[in-house]
Amino acid sequence: MIEPKGNKVLIDCYECKAKVSDAAAACPHCGAVSQSDDSMPVIVTDMDMKISSMIWFLLKAAIAAVPAVIIIYTAWTIIGGVMSPLLHM
Ligand SMILES: [Zn+2]
Repeated sequence: MIEPKGNKVLIDCYECKAKVSDAAAACPHCGAVSQSDDSMPVIVTDMDMKISSMIWFLLKAAIAAVPAVIIIYTAWTIIGGVMSPLLHM
């Protein structure tokens, strides 16, 4: 018997370790979805979400830092105003 040489490659199912054609969308034995091209957009989307949420976090941190800087500056001015007469006595 001569094995038919097609372009289909048998790969080990990551779930049940059975031989599954890489052309199959899901494992016929356990139904696990193929880890080939389908998983890539998910990772890209996940990365995209992480980057955008990080930018959003930095933006919110920058906005939140403005009142903090004003408070620190005001407090520093008040402390400086109180302390400098004492230091110059
Ligand atoms: Zn399987």
